[in-house]
Amino acid sequence: MPGTVNRTTRNVPQPATRSPAQLPRFRAQLRRQRTRCFVALGSNINQPLLQLRRAVQALDTLPQSSLQHCSSVYRSQAMGPGQQPDYLNAVAEIRTALRPHALLAALKRIERRAGRVYQRRWSARPLDLDILLYGHLSYRSRSLTIPHAGLMQRNFVLGPLLEIAAGLALPNGRALDTNMLQGLPGRLQKMPQPLWPRRRQR
Ligand code: AMP
Repeated sequence: MPGTVNRTTRNVPQPATRSPAQLPRFRAQLRRQRTRCFVALGSNINQPLLQLRRAVQALDTLPQSSLQHCSSVYRSQAMGPGQQPDYLNAVAEIRTALRPHALLAALKRIERRAGRVYQRRWSARPLDLDILLYGHLSYRSRSLTIPHAGLMQRNFVLGPLLEIAAGLALPNGRALDTNMLQGLPGRLQKMPQPLWPRRRQR
């Protein structure tokens, strides 16, 4: 596959050769080899809040990965064609040893399980999952662009991302800053319902 991919996700050691006494060290080693990623979640049909909650549970069970944080839920206006219900959006932080295309494939499987049928661009959907950031990777292929191409143009992505990762250094060297939200179109409303109640470190 063309493009540059973070080398730290290669050669993940297998647990079979470890004794129980070695397991804590082995787990710590695995954690270090996982890349910090941010995934955008969106839904505007078929009970959007339930869809986002299920998606977060699915992210929490991704192989070779762990869910770290979730933003609040935000309501945003649909960008798509015609009249569409508002979206509910959020951003989740995961750490994963999955390579970028494997992560994309896993996200697409979660979308399909949520009943997503691929229609025309911007159409209403029960679940949309996008890779926003994958460590410090800048990557472009026919099916995957990282950082996500809409990251800096969409308040419903940038708003929740800023909530959980303000100050984060982007691959271009800039730090995530609330000023980046200025001038972005569309209303964005933070909702009271928690998506994932706990902050967790594994
Ligand atoms: P969407 O309509 O948002 O589900 O995205 C449609 C297509 O965008 C997907 O089938 C992906 O191949 C492609 N794509 C490109 N970059 C990304 C990314 N960073 N995250 C998710 N999908 C992406």
